[in-house]
Amino acid sequence: MKEEIKNLFERIKKARYCVALTGAGVSTLSGIRDFRGKNGLYNDGPDGPLDAEKIFDIDYFEQDPSFYYKAARSFIYDLNEKEPSVVHLVLAALEQRGLLRALITQNIDLLHQKGGSRRVIEVHGSPKVHYCLHCAGVRMGFDEAAAIVHSGALPRCPKCSRVLKPAITFFGESLPMDALRDASDEAQNADLMLVLGTSLTVNPAASIPNYTLRNNGEVIIVNNMPTPLDSRAVQHYDDLGEVFEGLWELLASSV
Ligand SMILES: [Zn+2]
Repeated sequence: MKEEIKNLFERIKKARYCVALTGAGVSTLSGIRDFRGKNGLYNDGPDGPLDAEKIFDIDYFEQDPSFYYKAARSFIYDLNEKEPSVVHLVLAALEQRGLLRALITQNIDLLHQKGGSRRVIEVHGSPKVHYCLHCAGVRMGFDEAAAIVHSGALPRCPKCSRVLKPAITFFGESLPMDALRDASDEAQNADLMLVLGTSLTVNPAASIPNYTLRNNGEVIIVNNMPTPLDSRAVQHYDDLGEVFEGLWELLASSV
């Protein structure tokens, strides 16, 4: 395995333009449970199973926004308690050394930013901003919203006093167009894409590596489940933790 990780590190160093795509598997290493896995969040809410479709449903949110905030209090607004994993830290270090150009993520946990990554493209939106569905220009940041949620209140619009919505993409909303365009541009530019902790079953993530492949770029997959692109990947590893611990050592010894 050690040799294979060295091999991976060499490929990353040789790449002209390396981009990473990350999914829920990267977050589970930080103690954030995958939504749908065996020990997934949705099986284990404070009042029994959580209904994902309901928490992130835009129509339901407009009827009763308190349902989202109550359900999300622990797993979104407690994120200041969570620490970036070795994957987050390695990706940030690679970017700092000019070895990673961009990071595309399906995650909504802000851990890449907390780990030090700067160019983060969030294709499912982000709770870093909360906005009013009715008043243009009203914005509230994550920290302020989180403090209000933890006090037991709801973040409200200063103009119309309606409850603010996080800029996470809910079911029934369209995906963030700017992020999608940035993601496809970066994927097209990439001669190497690292696909990390995602099974590539949900769009838009499922289609993003295809932009790289179509331009004759290479894809490397690190995921503990099969993906539809396994046969087209130049390398495939199962264990994110093991691979990134290895990369961490290699980075530390190649300063
Ligand atoms: Zn408003």
